[in-house]
Amino acid sequence: MSTIQKVSVVIPVYNEQESLPELIQRTTAACQQLPCDWEVLLVDDGSSDDSARLMTEAAKQPGSHLVAVLLNRNYGQHSAIMAGFSHVSGDLIITLDADLQNPPEEIPRLVAKASEGYDVVGTVRQNRQDSLFRKTASRMINRLIQRATGKAMGDYGCMLRAYRRHIIDAMLHCHERSTFIPILANTFARKTAEIPVQHAEREHGDSKYSFMRLINLMYDLVTCLTTTPLRLLSVFGSVIALLGFLFAVLLVALRLILGPEWGAEGVFPLFAVLFMFIGAQFIGMGLLGEYIGRIYNDVRARPRYFIQQVVSSTHQESQEDEQE
Ligand code: UDP
Ligand code: MG
Repeated sequence: MSTIQKVSVVIPVYNEQESLPELIQRTTAACQQLPCDWEVLLVDDGSSDDSARLMTEAAKQPGSHLVAVLLNRNYGQHSAIMAGFSHVSGDLIITLDADLQNPPEEIPRLVAKASEGYDVVGTVRQNRQDSLFRKTASRMINRLIQRATGKAMGDYGCMLRAYRRHIIDAMLHCHERSTFIPILANTFARKTAEIPVQHAEREHGDSKYSFMRLINLMYDLVTCLTTTPLRLLSVFGSVIALLGFLFAVLLVALRLILGPEWGAEGVFPLFAVLFMFIGAQFIGMGLLGEYIGRIYNDVRARPRYFIQQVVSSTHQESQEDEQE
């Protein structure tokens, strides 16, 4: 595992003019403690306030390690981070939120952990300062992800993370529109670790995620992870069809036992038939879903596999970062 020569910190910024001065000052101070070279990329995600001007001015200062990347409009947090990734020059990349909920002072700890040879270093928020609703929702998602990826990662919602360069390169080869970076990174990582970090309350402004945007993010997360929900349609359909069938058998049996007066004049048998049809419809939809899932996987054209290293006695040089 190569040593870390340069650290790049990528920060998406969307209408954070109040936080920016403190963010730049604290992040710079934290990075100055690093034993290697560093840069900070601020990605302006189409802010309508003064953020873009503030960050371009800071980047123009002589000797600053800041780079300002301005997007023409708002694309969302994860797309903004991806845009930042395409301009990093470091071999360890750290992502961070601009609202100072993740203290920049944790950066040296992340770098130290990553230099132990981890591809991805995640973080778990201690004493998380969010509403009970947000906490419960993220607990449910965490469990779902752990089951689906097989990689134990305690806290997917926290964006304070470190990625090795080859993971970033692999992610840049994924051309899907909606991504959820921590999960995508994990699909390419070999060794991952987690450290506990502090989490503060948002000091300026409100969360940039409204309820609808949170739902959207959740869809991004699920579709980034798996096409299982499509498959569940057929399972659901099969269960309904089976229940309908059992219901019909029960009705016939009761009709034979209790005589023709019983049976609510054909209403019950109608239900049984209806259940079976609804079930069949869902099975049909599930089948369509299977095709759509396969089309989706092909269309987003993720690298089919990711070779991290090839080692042989004749070839002294090890090759890193090979896709497909
Ligand atoms: N953000 C962004 N584009 C957006 C929404 C958010 O770049 O469309 C940035 C925002 O500036 C912040 C980070 O993403 O740096 C996290 O956003 P926020 O703090 O609002 O999310 P929360 O902490 O509530 O999950
Ligand atoms: Mg926040």
